[in-house]
Amino acid sequence: MASSQILPTEVHTIVVGGGTGGATCAGLLAAHSTESILLLEAGPDYGPFQGGTWPHDLLDARAIPLSHDWGLNSGDFCRDRVIDFPRARVMGGCSAHNGCTASVGARADYDEWEAAGNAGWGAAAMAPLLDLMRRRFRVRTLTVGELTMAQAAFMRAGHAAGLPFADDLDQLEAGVGIGPMTANIVDGTRWNSSFAFIDPVRHRQNLTILGEVMVDRIMIEQGEVRGLHVLINGEAHLVRCARVILAGGAYGSPAILLRSGIGPAGDLAAQQIEIVADLPGVGGNLLDHPCVQLDFEGSPDFLEAVRTNPRHVDEQTVGRAKSDLCDSGPYDIHAFLVAGANSGHVGLPPITLYGGAMRAKSQGRVTLRDASPLSVPLVDPRYCTDPDGHDHSVLSQAKDLLTAISAEPGFAKVLGKAQPRPVVDLATEVVNYCHPAGTCKMGPARDPQAVVGSNGAVHGVSGLYVADASVMPTITRGNINLPTAAMAARIAATMLGMTPDVLAAHG
Ligand SMILES: Cc1cc2nc3c(=O)[nH]c(=O)nc-3n(C[C@H](O)[C@H](O)[C@H](O)COP(=O)(O)OP(=O)(O)OC[C@H]3O[C@@H](n4cnc5c(N)ncnc54)[C@H](O)[C@@H]3O)c2cc1C
Repeated sequence: MASSQILPTEVHTIVVGGGTGGATCAGLLAAHSTESILLLEAGPDYGPFQGGTWPHDLLDARAIPLSHDWGLNSGDFCRDRVIDFPRARVMGGCSAHNGCTASVGARADYDEWEAAGNAGWGAAAMAPLLDLMRRRFRVRTLTVGELTMAQAAFMRAGHAAGLPFADDLDQLEAGVGIGPMTANIVDGTRWNSSFAFIDPVRHRQNLTILGEVMVDRIMIEQGEVRGLHVLINGEAHLVRCARVILAGGAYGSPAILLRSGIGPAGDLAAQQIEIVADLPGVGGNLLDHPCVQLDFEGSPDFLEAVRTNPRHVDEQTVGRAKSDLCDSGPYDIHAFLVAGANSGHVGLPPITLYGGAMRAKSQGRVTLRDASPLSVPLVDPRYCTDPDGHDHSVLSQAKDLLTAISAEPGFAKVLGKAQPRPVVDLATEVVNYCHPAGTCKMGPARDPQAVVGSNGAVHGVSGLYVADASVMPTITRGNINLPTAAMAARIAATMLGMTPDVLAAHG
């Protein structure tokens, strides 16, 4: 469904991508400035939540729908298998189809960004913006009473494995523990970034929102942004502007930069793209939270409970543990259970336990397949390739933890028979938590891998910014939706000339 608004020929600012970062940034700029803002999204814009036109599967927080997926995968990069990388193509982006676990990571994650030369990005500055995200995404902590039989048994088994009760995943002080998750679910509805940040400003005269617009490349002259080339129904258009803010996500934003001639000179030359800025970091530093998984058939009682409980959210319980390689932060492993409606997805067993390495160091890469805006980029995840074997070791400790949890007698009864996978080595069984980040890394210009500075501006190009998960220099140790929104708000605050606490207070 395309928006009814018409593509303007000239605006002040264009925000590319209506996902977590883009909706947050565009919504805040539209609310607090009079500049003309154009928000462009490749997928449909279903309008305000109150309009009642959103598809049911995107609203239903019980399971992750794939109806609006971009269709990205690892192609030929992984030995003997193809790994899917789900990504939503719709207003709200991945927040419109994600698992709704609301997590903020730890103080150490943000303080590390500041220590790497990104002034104003430490936990003290980011805390008010994370508070804003809790409010806008309407985060609440689920209660033990809301847990299903499987989730409660998982929590008890986690206690038996040494994890204390903890339900504070949305707090910077959260530590090791297990308990109900904090979630952006409102009466069963997945509360996405479009509801959180675009609905309140849809009426503003300075905001134009257009769905089903594919952004091709940025028009740059003499090192300055002049406009944006887009495709609508296959037809090319140019919109002139003074500022472009990319928020196409960790796969989409580097692809647009590369098509625009900004990236590693050798890669651009190989695609016969004219070089505008030689930035070797574009598309590199692809971070994620690799996971190991244990699959189970589910006991007859469990299968019956899933069938008869219509409000069964499949995640809903999260554990955190500390490996012996953990950095100065409080934990570096997530343990979670997927058991419920999601198990209806092809290839997923009735119950799966996941263990994630939340401070993984391996770096993948995003490159262009070709220069066409209609081609999805190539994604090489390079899981477990860090030279010190850190990720491999953390994942094997995560697997040991899952094995101990699954052996607890009460939980083992719920899980039923294990469905072992043919394992060659741990690296070949790794899956992902769907948290790609880091491909337009923030850092000072002296860092050769840095793509944007601490104001979100692309090094060497005036008027060009990035405001999504790709900006993360290192990945936060939790689900990254809230941190991504807070980062986009941090960048918007600088553009608005506001400090983070003032923006958060007015946000
Ligand atoms: C299946 C899944 C489950 C997840 N579960 C959780 C969870 O429970 N909790 C959590 O915190 N995080 C979760 N995440 C991660 C989180 O949702 C994402 O990290 C976050 O939404 C990323 O925000 P973003 O702005 O970087 O990108 P996105 O939200 O992906 O936004 C990018 C937007 O840009 C658009 N776009 C891209 N290229 C173009 C182009 N050329 N032209 C126009 N538009 C374009 C896309 O269509 C998309 O709407 C999950 C992610 C997935 C995929």
